[in-house]
Amino acid sequence: MTRFVQSEMHPQRWGDPEAATALPEAARGLIEMAFGIDERPAAASVAVPTAELSADLLDGLRAVVGEEHVLTDDATRRLRTRGKSTPDLLRARSGDLGDAPDVVVRPDGHEQVAAVLALAVEHHLAVVPFGGGTSVTGGLVARREGYAGLVSLDLVRMKRLLAVDHVSMTAVLEPGLRGPEAESLLAEEGLTLGHYPQSFEYATIGGFAATRSSGQSSAGYGRFDALVVGLRVATPRGELVLGSAPANAAGPDLRQLVLGSEGAFGVITSVTVRVRRLPAEKVYEGWHWPSFEAGADAMRTLAQSGLLPTVIRLSDEAETAINLARPDEIGGASSGGCLMITGYEGEPAANAAKRAAVTSVLEGLGGTGLGEEPGRAWAHGRFGAPYLRDSLLDVGVLVETLETATFWSNRERLYADVKAALETTLGEGALVLCHVSHVYETGCSLYFTVATKLGDDPLAQWHAAKVAASDAMVAAGATITHHHAVGTDHRPWLTREIGELGASVLRAVKADLDPTGVLNPGVLIP
Ligand SMILES: Cc1cc2nc3c(=O)[nH]c(=O)nc-3n(C[C@H](O)[C@H](O)[C@H](O)COP(=O)(O)OP(=O)(O)OC[C@H]3O[C@@H](n4cnc5c(N)ncnc54)[C@H](O)[C@@H]3O)c2cc1C
Repeated sequence: MTRFVQSEMHPQRWGDPEAATALPEAARGLIEMAFGIDERPAAASVAVPTAELSADLLDGLRAVVGEEHVLTDDATRRLRTRGKSTPDLLRARSGDLGDAPDVVVRPDGHEQVAAVLALAVEHHLAVVPFGGGTSVTGGLVARREGYAGLVSLDLVRMKRLLAVDHVSMTAVLEPGLRGPEAESLLAEEGLTLGHYPQSFEYATIGGFAATRSSGQSSAGYGRFDALVVGLRVATPRGELVLGSAPANAAGPDLRQLVLGSEGAFGVITSVTVRVRRLPAEKVYEGWHWPSFEAGADAMRTLAQSGLLPTVIRLSDEAETAINLARPDEIGGASSGGCLMITGYEGEPAANAAKRAAVTSVLEGLGGTGLGEEPGRAWAHGRFGAPYLRDSLLDVGVLVETLETATFWSNRERLYADVKAALETTLGEGALVLCHVSHVYETGCSLYFTVATKLGDDPLAQWHAAKVAASDAMVAAGATITHHHAVGTDHRPWLTREIGELGASVLRAVKADLDPTGVLNPGVLIP
């Protein structure tokens, strides 16, 4: 049973500090054979750079949110420094806290957020909205040059379920609610959101909307942007309230301007979401496929027949053999081929009917049912892999992930090109694993995991691989990101994806909503 915590994250690792573990002995032996063990302890706690904000500015912020919610101590600022990509962790482990905010400000509602933004405009302060701090694309690493200071706008106090409409099946949530907190409040009403990204433990409702996140049950519940029916946003120019009807033809849908805007256009202060009834039953199972191609073709058939389960994911041969989600099973026996996980969440009768229909299609296409044990193992370990990443960094193994998406007809090319780019740049001995993580009628997303021996300059080592993989994605006509968002890391490729005119439209919206550029400078906008 997965344990969910209410704690702050470890400043140099993923997740609950109490859950940090050493590599299991069996896995350690295999890692020693594959890469060698090279103990790399993180630097002991280091000083955070001196804050630059004047006493007057701090007083101004205190007048808005209250004395106790303007924090300048080292520990708080350290916890609001960057996100949780592997480069973020490498920097934190090496003691580099150069991007620490000058101050952490914790508003308690829309009006306080708006007042902080007004102060930021008046004094030219850069403002970084902070949700769960799980960004993996540099979304929290704003440019500070030219600003009077850098404020981390921490939404941690905005954690209320504001309204529930049981007739329309919608709920209004504040942005600071973490995944488990939102689910727990909704469960009291007999409802669920059904959004389970791997970062579920810590990522927030506002962050999900700001990055257009996608969860592990996206085939059944939809991506987060598909769950959003309304938004309230505080911008430096005033308030945007969007989503007055379930659907409309009132011009372009402005909700889509806010979804994925990564704090560059405004601060999302509430999100109205579509909700579902709590499922009475959740059942997951495994399928074996002779090849990645055969499994992916089966996924496409299901998607195009309107027969998708709630969860469906497919590991390639390498990922199937090395199950990074189960540290205790790394290197466990694999009979070759590829593992698919399918899952059904809902009423038992509806689950049974869907499962029977899917089973018939998958068996007809050459899949072999493996029963519920692989499904249970996946469900048990589904939020565990990020903890393993830290254990591997401890022994000198670099692990990082990247993701993209394309149409079905381009899937094989994209897979081959990105894999080749990563293998060529990282050299012999690097492991490149992949799974199909999200599927649509027209295409799918590919999620790559890389493991290699940490070099002398791990940041440069990973940067070279990331550039090669990103170039390969764009050259193949795929997207630079399916669900991790743009941040600062993907910004160099965005114009190639959306064109000069597209980039110009984003700049125009930014100039209108945030004319002095105080919101997340350097993030998203090309
Ligand atoms: C181990 C791990 C696993 C992950 N797995 C997944 C996954 O399965 N699926 C997936 O989609 N993503 C995944 N991610 C990426 C990450 O969790 C998402 O980008 C997440 O949606 C960000 O939410 P957050 O609350 O942590 O936001 P933060 O990291 O705090 O912020 C992200 C960006 O949004 C902005 N922002 C935050 N809140 C607001 C707000 N209220 N208004 C305006 N802007 C705001 C920030 O300024 C920043 O630019 C994973 C990340 C990690 C580290």
